[in-house]
Amino acid sequence: MRKALIALALSALTGIFAMMALLLSRSDDAQLEQTPTHRLALPSPTVTQRSHAWQDVIQGELLVVRTALPPSPTPMPTHTPTRPVRWQSSPTPARFQPERATVPPPTAVASPTAPTIARNNDPRRGEFSPPPEQVPLSLDPRDHFWFRRPVDSSANSAALFSYAYGSDGPNNEWRIHHGIDLPNPIGKEVRAAAAGRVIWAADNYRWYENGRYVESAYSYGNVVIIEHNFGFQGKRLYTLYAHLQLILVQVGQAVQTGEVIGLSGRSGVVSGPHVHFEVRVGRNSYYETRNPLLWIAPYENHGVVAGRVTLPDGSLAQDISVVLMKNGRIVDRTTTYVNPRQANSRAWNVNSDEVWRENFVIGDVPVGIYQVVVFLNGRRLERDVTVRPATTSFVDFTEFEVAPLPTLSPTPAG
Ligand SMILES: [Zn+2]
Repeated sequence: MRKALIALALSALTGIFAMMALLLSRSDDAQLEQTPTHRLALPSPTVTQRSHAWQDVIQGELLVVRTALPPSPTPMPTHTPTRPVRWQSSPTPARFQPERATVPPPTAVASPTAPTIARNNDPRRGEFSPPPEQVPLSLDPRDHFWFRRPVDSSANSAALFSYAYGSDGPNNEWRIHHGIDLPNPIGKEVRAAAAGRVIWAADNYRWYENGRYVESAYSYGNVVIIEHNFGFQGKRLYTLYAHLQLILVQVGQAVQTGEVIGLSGRSGVVSGPHVHFEVRVGRNSYYETRNPLLWIAPYENHGVVAGRVTLPDGSLAQDISVVLMKNGRIVDRTTTYVNPRQANSRAWNVNSDEVWRENFVIGDVPVGIYQVVVFLNGRRLERDVTVRPATTSFVDFTEFEVAPLPTLSPTPAG
């Protein structure tokens, strides 16, 4: 009896400690959530998983979802500006006149360095440090890897697979992602993806064009936007770096490729530190993003898999699970874009690349032969794909080939 009482007391104590630990671990979120208190004492699988940094990131993005961005979307013209636009931005307005409305793209060059073996092919283990290819890089004329990663390759520069560009999260409840997330601790150097001029460097992002309101978002926190020195198909290029802990540049400042523009952090509406990175084509607008994985140079001995999944009526199939397999094992996965430009609701749209017209991309794939598998209307569709260094391999699921129903159930790698 006494033993039972002691055991009971011990388990009660353990429970209290667990609850305290839980309260501590969630205190950051408590600041952001409106009515979290009653949830804090309820252990759940979700809470347990939150010890992983990337799940913090997801939670952060979830919070972003709850925040309208922009709060009141303003209808905008669909055409690309063809004449110079006078920019006004930042709480300390700085105006400047772009030299030209369009500028030629950079000269495509191959990486001058020989391929090396990646020391770690699994970016989700944390630090990931094979050397990146040099930019700009267009071994295949269809490719435009003209940006370097915004963080060092020795930092965690893996794009969070659970919240890919164009996806709405594993449970279809998050804001459609217009960028990629690079989970990193506070204080990592964030670098300019290419040369250009800073057009925004502050928190409380609020953008005007010709004096007219375009969009705003406080959830970005400290955010830097660069207009680059080169264009693409006659359109301007912009990159955006959000949630910075510290901004180290000013509006109007010219920056070179790789120049430190700030430090990674958790400013804005997030619960975990990461760099949110966007590529914008044509104009500086939340609605003009493209998948950054088609713009940032892969690591040496790595390539990119892009593809398209279409429905029988020819439209792009939305939110379809795409699995990359090698030797019967899953090596990566993503989902097709949700609500691309074909849909009515412009406010939520993401965009396909001008060249590839894709609706999914998997980046940082070590060279080799893979199978890409999608499940569409209960059918398993499979394509072989050869990933070559520093290029994009395209997989087209436009023409249906009905494969036998799956008999294997793939096991996750690692
Ligand atoms: Zn993000």
